Amino acid sequence: MAPETNNQRDSTEYDVVIIGGGPAGLAAGLYAARGRHKTLLLEKGVVGGQISLTELVENYPGVPSVNGFDLAQTMLQQSESYGMETEYSAVSAVERAGEKWLVKTDERDIVAKALIVTSGAEYNRLGVPGEERLTGKGVSYCATCDAAFFKGLDVAVVGGGDAAMDEGLFTSRYADKVSVIHRRDELRASAILQDRAFANPKMDFIWNTVVEEIMGDGQVTAAKVRDVVTGQRRELPLSAVFIFIGQHPNSDFMKGLVKMDNGGHMIVNEWMETDQPGLFAAGDVRQNSARQVASSVGDGVTAAIAADHYITNKFTHAAGPVPSAVSE
Ligand SMILES: Cc1cc2nc3c(=O)[nH]c(=O)nc-3n(C[C@H](O)[C@H](O)[C@H](O)COP(=O)(O)OP(=O)(O)OC[C@H]3O[C@@H](n4cnc5c(N)ncnc54)[C@H](O)[C@@H]3O)c2cc1C
Repeated sequence: MAPETNNQRDSTEYDVVIIGGGPAGLAAGLYAARGRHKTLLLEKGVVGGQISLTELVENYPGVPSVNGFDLAQTMLQQSESYGMETEYSAVSAVERAGEKWLVKTDERDIVAKALIVTSGAEYNRLGVPGEERLTGKGVSYCATCDAAFFKGLDVAVVGGGDAAMDEGLFTSRYADKVSVIHRRDELRASAILQDRAFANPKMDFIWNTVVEEIMGDGQVTAAKVRDVVTGQRRELPLSAVFIFIGQHPNSDFMKGLVKMDNGGHMIVNEWMETDQPGLFAAGDVRQNSARQVASSVGDGVTAAIAADHYITNKFTHAAGPVPSAVSE
């Protein structure tokens, strides 16, 4: 029998296809499915995305304190209860298919009238022993999320750019001492953030130094560091290590199809519309995201409402009142 070619692969059509099952995708799925659209969510790993890595979420309005994985499971059940389908496979490519979109996974091709990309982002890791094991247990990539857990304690911030200074300053509202560990002898951060950081009595700078190991049994207790000039090693007692050495959006499979910024974040307007009709982006994958669960959920909701109007106008011609900013 002749091997199956791409053209012969089974393809199923959905009204709305969502790529990525983090908070943005789950919220988009709830609104799209509840709006009676045939909706499919594609997730390559664990539903919940970044939030499934965190022990405790304390800043999602209306939910005072919840385990990240549990919050994601509740969101998934809610979206599926309205008919959203979930498929665990990675999207490798997206193509235009006339007025629709063709989404390719390893298993099959899927046609979408509207496509919402919520594939999120990943923080750059140090790649040192202890980092992965202690993520959510003192190792953090988000001060806004986790600084409040370290009130009155000594913590470290790794990095020398704007994000490191910004998040370091935020962390100093809670911690007693914030040691900024930077591999060079000067910061890359903007002058204003440097001025604020240097003027902050709680912030202390450890120059020309890299982290070699993060230590702790169930919770961070110290970091092993090395001076890259002298080669000297020492152990810093710490309760948390906040790592800000960059972040990269999961948008490679969209390259060339849609406008992105230099960092690979998809550019959208206030309705989460990209420059391509029927293609929306929401959450951490988009430019200027606030990188929070609540903001990602809001983005997903906005994208689903915009997609609803797009489908109704384009494919059924029976739209209700359209918010003026949503293109027809
Ligand atoms: C350790 C940690 C703790 C945090 N704590 C908090 C907190 O307490 N409060 C808060 O508000 N925020 C917190 N955040 C930030 C918050 O988790 C993110 O802002 C939010 O998850 C972004 O949601 P998203 O849906 O845009 O993307 P993500 O959560 O990144 O989800 C994207 C999903 O898309 C999937 N995906 C990617 N590429 C593909 C593909 N090609 N095919 C199929 N699926 C794909 C990924 O597997 C992932 O599941 C934390 C982040 C981290 C890392």
